[in-house]
Amino acid sequence: MEKRTYIEASNTLPVYDECDILIVGGGAAGHSAAVAAARAGAKNIILMERYGYMGGDATGGYVIMVPDLSWYNKSFVRGLQEEWFTRLEKIPGAVMGPSNDVIGSEDPVLIDAWRAIHDCVSRNAPHRLVRSVYFEPNQLKIEMDKMLLEHKDAIRVLYHCWITKPIMEGNQVKGVIFESKEGRKAIFAKIVIDATGDGDIFSQTGAPYASLADSDTRSSTTALVWRIGGVNYDLFDEWKRTRPQAAAELRTQLTKLAGFRCMPLPSNQNDICWVNNWHPDRDCTNIKDQTETEINTRNTMREVLEYLREAVPMAFRNAYLYDIAPQLGTRCSRRLKGEYIMTANDWAFASHFDDVIAWHSTICQINDCGPVEIPYRAILPQKVENLLCPGRHLSADDVAIDWLNLIPQCVGTGQAAGVAAAVAATSGTTVRDVDIKRVQNILIDQDVPLPRNERVDPSYMQCVEEHEYGLYTELAKKARAEGIKEFRQW
Ligand SMILES: Cc1cc2nc3c(=O)[nH]c(=O)nc-3n(C[C@H](O)[C@H](O)[C@H](O)COP(=O)(O)OP(=O)(O)OC[C@H]3O[C@@H](n4cnc5c(N)ncnc54)[C@H](O)[C@@H]3O)c2cc1C
Repeated sequence: MEKRTYIEASNTLPVYDECDILIVGGGAAGHSAAVAAARAGAKNIILMERYGYMGGDATGGYVIMVPDLSWYNKSFVRGLQEEWFTRLEKIPGAVMGPSNDVIGSEDPVLIDAWRAIHDCVSRNAPHRLVRSVYFEPNQLKIEMDKMLLEHKDAIRVLYHCWITKPIMEGNQVKGVIFESKEGRKAIFAKIVIDATGDGDIFSQTGAPYASLADSDTRSSTTALVWRIGGVNYDLFDEWKRTRPQAAAELRTQLTKLAGFRCMPLPSNQNDICWVNNWHPDRDCTNIKDQTETEINTRNTMREVLEYLREAVPMAFRNAYLYDIAPQLGTRCSRRLKGEYIMTANDWAFASHFDDVIAWHSTICQINDCGPVEIPYRAILPQKVENLLCPGRHLSADDVAIDWLNLIPQCVGTGQAAGVAAAVAATSGTTVRDVDIKRVQNILIDQDVPLPRNERVDPSYMQCVEEHEYGLYTELAKKARAEGIKEFRQW
C-alpha cells in the first residue's frame, strides 16, 4: 500500500513543569529510579507514566514472579527488589517463595515442600532452595504508590501522560513532549531517564539502537496474561509429576488449541494460577502485533479453560476466569546500543566491570546460574547526553537481552540510574562524567551488594569465589588459558 503522509502544523506548546530528573515510564525500572534518586538526595524529580498505576509488566502485565535471585545461600540482587518483598510480606498472602534464611538449603524436606513451585528449587543437582518470589500484582501496585508517597517532597508523580518525543538541543536531551487529557505539553529536565522499556525516548534522539530479539528467544514473543481462579494448583502439580506423558500431551494440546504456546503457572495462592503465553515473532511496538495478541489471546481463553477442566478435573473442576491483565505483555522491542553491549561472553567468562552497578539475577540457559555483573555503560547511550536507559531495553545483543530483561535486572538498573542521576544533579556533573565510585557507594548504602568493595559483607565475595561462576567454570578457565575470548568460538 502506498505510504501517504501528512505535514503536521508547527505548534506552540505550554510548558507543564521543569525538574532536575525526569523519569519516563513507571515500570520496575522507572519506579526504582525515582525512589533511588530521592533516597540519594535528589529533590526535584518527576515520574511520568501513561497508565494509572506503577509497575508496568510486573503489575499491569500480571508477570507475578521474580525468579532465581540467589546463588547458593546468598541473595545477590537485593536493594529495592528485596524491599518489594519485605514490604509485601506484611500483607497476608501477598507473597510466596523461600525466604532468605533458608535459601541454599539442601534439606530434602524443604526441597520436597518447594519442588512444586517453578524455580524455587535449583535446576541442577545437588538441588538447593532458590530465592524466587511470587507476588499479588494489585498489592504491589498499592505498595509502589506508598513507596513514592514516602518521598512526596522530592517526587511528583504524573499518571495518564503519554510521552511522545524528546526535546533535543544538538545531542543533548532537554526534556520531553507528552500528550494527556490536558492536551500536548512540554516538560524540561536536566536529566531524562528513559524507562519506557521500548526506547520510546532514546530511539528519537540519534542514539544508536537495535531492534527485536533473536526469534528463537522468549523475548521475541508477546503475551496477554490472564488468571484462573478456583484451581487446586498443588493437585495440578501432583498430576503433572505423576503423569509426565499426560502433562506433555496437555502442553501440546494447549498450544494446538490456542494457536500459540500457553501454560498455567503457580501464583502466590494455591487457588489461583496465571496463564503465561508466548505469541511467536511479534514486535510489541507494532500496532498489528499488539492488536492480534490481545484479540487472539482473549478469543481462546474460554476454550483453554474448558480443556483444562476436562483434562485435569482434580485440579480445574471448579476453575473460572478470574481476570485478564489490563495491559499487553511486552518482552522486547528496541534495544539500546549503549557504551557497552552485553553478550553471551559476559556470562561465559563472568566479566568483571569497574563500573558495575547491579547483579544479574541467576537465570540463564548458558551458564551455571552464577550471578553476572552489569556495567553502568549498559544503560548509558552513545552520542547523546543527559540520558540514561535502564530496564528491559538496556544495551545487550539479541540473545543476551533474553537473560537481562527479567524483573530483577530492571529494578537493579533502574535503582542505579536513579542514584547516578541524583549524583549528577546534586554535584553539577553530567551522567556521562558522573563519579561512578560515589554512585557505587550509595548503591551499597541502598543494600546492593556490589562486588570487590570493602564495604560489602565479605561473605558475598566469598560465596562467588568459593563456588566460582561463568559457563561451567572448568570450561571457562580452560578457554581463558587458551586465549579464547569469544563464547561463539567454543
Ligand atoms: C508475559 C511475560 C512474562 C514474563 N515473565 C517473567 C518472569 O517470570 N520473571 C521476570 O522476572 N520477568 C518476566 N518477564 C519480563 C519482565 O516482566 C519485564 O521485562 C520487566 O517487568 C520490564 O520492566 P521495565 O520497567 O523495564 O519495563 P515495563 O514493565 O514495560 O515498564 C515500562 C513502563 O513505561 C510505561 N511507558 C511506556 N512507554 C511510555 C510512554 N511513551 N509514555 C509514558 N509511559 C510509558 C509503561 O506503561 C510501563 O509502565 C515477563 C514478561 C512478560 C511480558
